[in-house]
Amino acid sequence: MKSTMQANQLGLALLLRHACRVNGRSRIVSVTADGLRVEQTFADLAQRAGRLAHALDQRGFPTGTVVGTLAGASREHLEAYLGVPASGRILHTINVRLHADQQAYIAEHANDEVIMLDSQNLETFASFAHRLPKLRLVVTVGPRTPSAAPLMPCETIDYETLIADGVPRIDWPDIDENEAAIICFTGGTTGLPKGVAYSHRSIWLQAMSICTANSVGLSSNDCLLPAVPLYHVNGWGLPFAALMAGCDLILPGASMQPSALIALIKAEAPTIAAGVPTIWSDVLAEMRTRGMSGLGRLKSVSCGGAQVPQRLVDDYAALGIRMVQAWGMTETSSMSAIAQTPAWASSADDRRRCASAQGRVVCGLEVRVSDLDGATLPADGVAVGEIQIRGPWVTQSYLDVEERNHLQDGWLRTGDLGTVDADGFICLTDRLKDAIKSGGEWIPSLALENAIRTHPSVLDAAVIAVADERWQERPAAIVVLKPDETANASELRAHLLGRVAKWWIPERWAFIDAIPRTSVGKIDKKRIRQIAGASMAWTLDAPAACAAR
Ligand code: ADP
Repeated sequence: MKSTMQANQLGLALLLRHACRVNGRSRIVSVTADGLRVEQTFADLAQRAGRLAHALDQRGFPTGTVVGTLAGASREHLEAYLGVPASGRILHTINVRLHADQQAYIAEHANDEVIMLDSQNLETFASFAHRLPKLRLVVTVGPRTPSAAPLMPCETIDYETLIADGVPRIDWPDIDENEAAIICFTGGTTGLPKGVAYSHRSIWLQAMSICTANSVGLSSNDCLLPAVPLYHVNGWGLPFAALMAGCDLILPGASMQPSALIALIKAEAPTIAAGVPTIWSDVLAEMRTRGMSGLGRLKSVSCGGAQVPQRLVDDYAALGIRMVQAWGMTETSSMSAIAQTPAWASSADDRRRCASAQGRVVCGLEVRVSDLDGATLPADGVAVGEIQIRGPWVTQSYLDVEERNHLQDGWLRTGDLGTVDADGFICLTDRLKDAIKSGGEWIPSLALENAIRTHPSVLDAAVIAVADERWQERPAAIVVLKPDETANASELRAHLLGRVAKWWIPERWAFIDAIPRTSVGKIDKKRIRQIAGASMAWTLDAPAACAAR
């Protein structure tokens, strides 16, 4: 029997109408390239998004046109977030911190016809604009000096001029909810970037999930500061969730520097924030330098994208701020598991276990653990295998790429290794591509890195696999010492004794100034492997033969 329900589509136009009509008075505070504060309401946002859509109509860009962006977390970018997909076009957010070659590759593969960019990205863009055969319009945001306006192969117009004459569009078209709305490319740490096209429906469902109390839990009483670039998995979906919930939204602009974030927190008093661990540990360090003891009304920080150190969770707890770990991927529309502590976790041990896990899978998605031969392992918190995930906001395929390996019976292979326990908590032990298989046994590099970081002289650490004749692979440690510290490999090895299995302890150690990280703050193992192969000065502290179990 068919249901009797209406079949209205979940489109971003519907979200925009709700944001405007019901949450019209909620505010967006954003920071311009000049550091100026701009405030607008959700109703203003809908108006300007409508003007943008109208301007694109006027210039003859049809439904399905791909509009690329090279922009920070600004109000103009947010207007494009809504105006472009709600009008049936497709937004394509490009990571501004990638090398120009990668940006060119991505823009070309997404078939970008319009590029909207912050003026400071104009020169970089000019260096590859000629590689985009479909490019017809460049829209610049923010002040542009004549010297920084190199010749483009097509019309270039300032954003405010573009939308000035537009009549705000209110008759948004009906769009099939399964049509593409936004394209994001995966980070490309392990190969060429691959495009994921989110649908209107997947964005809607994920935003609803974020609003629930078991996730970020947004309401119209909140003020949200996502310290997440808008090109990073749709800003983790947070802007859409904010529009849905009607909470005030703070967009930090192009700078996620700790001093800029602290200034925003002081001035705008957010209640909820989000971002990668590096950002929040930098904020903490800056607070300590300044002798600050709190962050105003801030009550929780959703933190993910990389493992959240327990020390960071504890430090924020001491400030009265709950740091909640989240796990997700570009392919899963970001936050897919959240480490909220349930009521039954009454013992200190239980609470610690919940807080240190990557999180519990959110309702709507399912996870399982699989061994490398494809057999499903028990969800018992012990069996380690690849975490696989499926659901309506998990990608089925990649844009124009014949990829065969990413699915197993319809489940997305995440490349993350870990356990799932009987309560649905995911605990990552490693990433499959980084895993170190020594004598047939996995050594989880995340755990080893964390153990090394507990040495008081260590500022940062990374572990990679190196080939070993007897054990096939052994872990090698790359360490950054705190200023004026002199710990050597023997001391660090001694520190690990008793903290990790003896056979995990690396024999090869290297000391460098900074661990290479990707543009989104993850340890860049690919880069470290390159340096390790070419120029790393290793200390061999014990013969590999003695290292085994
Ligand atoms: P994102 O841009 O959301 O970080 P990517 O697709 O670039 O997504 O990377 C996803 C990967 O990041 C995950 O597969 C996992 O390896 C890692 N990751 C994300 N969140 C966490 C977390 N909380 N702890 C450890 N690793 C994480």
